[in-house]
Amino acid sequence: MTVRVPAKVNLQLSVGPRRDDGYHDLVNVFHAVSLFDEVTAWRNPGPAATGSGGAAIEPGIAASGADDPPGASVTVTVEGESADLVPLDGTNLAVKAALALAERAGRRPDVRLRIRKAIPVAGGMAGGSADAAATLVACDALWGLGLPREELMEIAGDLGSDVPFALFGGTAVGTGRGEKLTRVPVAGRFHWAFALAEGGLSTAEVYGECDRLREATGEQVAWPSASDELLAALAVGDAKALGAVLSNDLQPAALLLCRPLARTLTAGREHGALGALVSGSGPTCAFLAESEDHATTLATALEAAGVCRTAVTASGPVPGAEIV
Ligand code: ATP
Repeated sequence: MTVRVPAKVNLQLSVGPRRDDGYHDLVNVFHAVSLFDEVTAWRNPGPAATGSGGAAIEPGIAASGADDPPGASVTVTVEGESADLVPLDGTNLAVKAALALAERAGRRPDVRLRIRKAIPVAGGMAGGSADAAATLVACDALWGLGLPREELMEIAGDLGSDVPFALFGGTAVGTGRGEKLTRVPVAGRFHWAFALAEGGLSTAEVYGECDRLREATGEQVAWPSASDELLAALAVGDAKALGAVLSNDLQPAALLLCRPLARTLTAGREHGALGALVSGSGPTCAFLAESEDHATTLATALEAAGVCRTAVTASGPVPGAEIV
């Protein structure tokens, strides 16, 4: 059972005041783009058959109960973009998703997962959340559960605030911690170039830096709401108007933690990007292009300028996790 799942870019990421529980109320405008991870799920034939077999990374036995028969476990292998940075134990979000679904369904977590990554790891494009969403869809089908989407969304919300959107896809406003989603109408398609950075940024660290900056500057933080200009630009498919109103409250913090990103953003603007911003908690930078060709030109220019590890193109909106 193979499921393809998109990365997201936040067209707007507004961070409200820090709550007593340490979290922030957010207003996110999520946009799913055609940069896909792929998760394949098989019934786990047991440790003997999963110990080797030419996988890019030696599989880790992620979970198995002492009383379970062979095969009653989740194993995972990861290939592709920065695969060596992805954990193979119970902290892998795909593994957590398989375990959560099995628990909900009251069955043994019997599955072998293979993740093919194209979404940058710790890149601010919700790659781990995407893999969790894909795993929910793949295991639901593999195990013949047929859970309603709303139930999968509920499990997704427990796994992490970006996981529900990876199921939902398209373009959506997310509120609360990002998990309450309302679909946004979009005309046409938007074309993007993404500059992938050397290494990643920890989301928790970026939020921490954002809090520190706000405290240091005494900034009064308003209650966030979705930008009317942004929603209007999406509704009519106006890339130029959209580029002018892209926003990310985490950007100043990400730029402080990863100083070379300022040059990356400048280089993209100099090559005619309609908008340039750090994606989510970074360090990936997103550039809105005028057309598909312009996105390719931008990606080539960013690589040639030496301001990123690599650059890729994608377009959105695209659907959420789906079986291929
Ligand atoms: P977000 O934008 O949702 O905050 P991100 O895109 O910045 O996340 P991820 O790629 O999701 O970052 O990875 C964050 C961390 O999660 C990684 O450093 C990695 O250790 C861990 N992780 C767990 N499972 C996965 C997975 N399946 N793919 C990638 N990273 C994973």
